[in-house]
Amino acid sequence: MAVDSSVPAVSDGKDGASLPSIGPDGTKRRVTYFYEPTIGDYYYGQGHPMKPHRIRMAHNLIVHYSLHHLMEICRPFPAAASDIQKFHADDYVNFLSSVSPSFHTTQSELKRFNVGEDCPVFDGIFDFCQASAGGSIGAAVKLNMGASDIAINWAGGLHHAKKCEASGFCYVNDIVLGILELLKVHKRVLYVDIDVHHGDGVEEAFYITDRVMTVSFHKYGDFFPGTGHIRDTGFGPGKYYALNVPLNDGMDDSSFRDLFRPTLQKVMEVYQPDAVVLQCGADSLAGDRLGCFNLSLKGHADCLRFLRSFNVPLMVLGGGGYTIRNVARCWCYETAVAVGMEPDNKLPYNDYYEYFGPDYNLHINPEPMENLNPPEDLEKIRSILLEHISKLQHAPSVQFQTAPPNTELPEEEEEDMDVRPKRQLWHGANYDSEPENDENH
Ligand SMILES: [Zn+2]
Repeated sequence: MAVDSSVPAVSDGKDGASLPSIGPDGTKRRVTYFYEPTIGDYYYGQGHPMKPHRIRMAHNLIVHYSLHHLMEICRPFPAAASDIQKFHADDYVNFLSSVSPSFHTTQSELKRFNVGEDCPVFDGIFDFCQASAGGSIGAAVKLNMGASDIAINWAGGLHHAKKCEASGFCYVNDIVLGILELLKVHKRVLYVDIDVHHGDGVEEAFYITDRVMTVSFHKYGDFFPGTGHIRDTGFGPGKYYALNVPLNDGMDDSSFRDLFRPTLQKVMEVYQPDAVVLQCGADSLAGDRLGCFNLSLKGHADCLRFLRSFNVPLMVLGGGGYTIRNVARCWCYETAVAVGMEPDNKLPYNDYYEYFGPDYNLHINPEPMENLNPPEDLEKIRSILLEHISKLQHAPSVQFQTAPPNTELPEEEEEDMDVRPKRQLWHGANYDSEPENDENH
């Protein structure tokens, strides 16, 4: 592990504000990391590609790289049903909170909420949703308080969930809930999505507002969920505040970077967000079980590195990712990027070491596959995107609280926060060390 020599002594981790995190560029970032130690126990069912275990694997790598000493570690409080209802329909939340594999539900109810196939009912389904959403809402609260610069929740990023139904392995849209929390304090929030799938649930939630700008890079054409055409740019007051980047198979690091950096540079200049949310879906990595892009960890993490450089409050979330050894590698590496470290390529010994053979390295190699995104197509996409960005109003002001935010917060929400248990700190000492056999090893 290469530690910047200017990093002062590390505190005991109880006080996030005093934790140093100085990157190679000399910039300090206070990082808060949300982790629910039971998250890896949830199981979607045999053969299902979504494996919460990958979050435990990522955490285990993070701890064995000693990155937890450089961040404030928080165990999220579970989001209450009333928190989740800030976006989701009451009947859908009531259904989620009561359903279980042994609980008799009607076919019509399962169909109505799109639960059963891709989105199965599994043991503890609502607790899982509460932990995922609790992390993203907690991350927003941290950023709202100005108590951290970067807040990470790898159990979040479930971008397909809709107001009234589950979709694409997602039940509760923690991202929308986190952004709604950020909007209590921040005038404009930028959402960036680098999952291989279109960030449809988040886009839809904020399609007609200029207070949230959504930017999604994704595979488009005969691919789930089917939305995200380049000409879909928002509606009404939200026109041009949704940006879609439809791509083909085989996107590599240099093509992705050459599209991502100029686009986001322009968005940051023109939109001037007060907070940024980055969904780091790892199914855009090379060799993903469901994805078809060809990014390395460095190419994927360059998006985080770039957005971090603007020094705007940043929420970093997980998402898809189905070759779980690479998901763990990716989110560990991105945690290191957040705190400003460059980890050793040789993996430290860890509880899941056997998953990472035969090389036992952190970084992955791109696949020998063709990039079906020719330079002329990418150039055309870039020019259309820049044209769309040029049409949006410069840093739109909003009818919004000018008084200090806590006087403007709904009273009920304030009370909720008060009765919530004091956030427990998780020092990474008692992480679950039971390795789990996994077919996707
Ligand atoms: Zn995905």
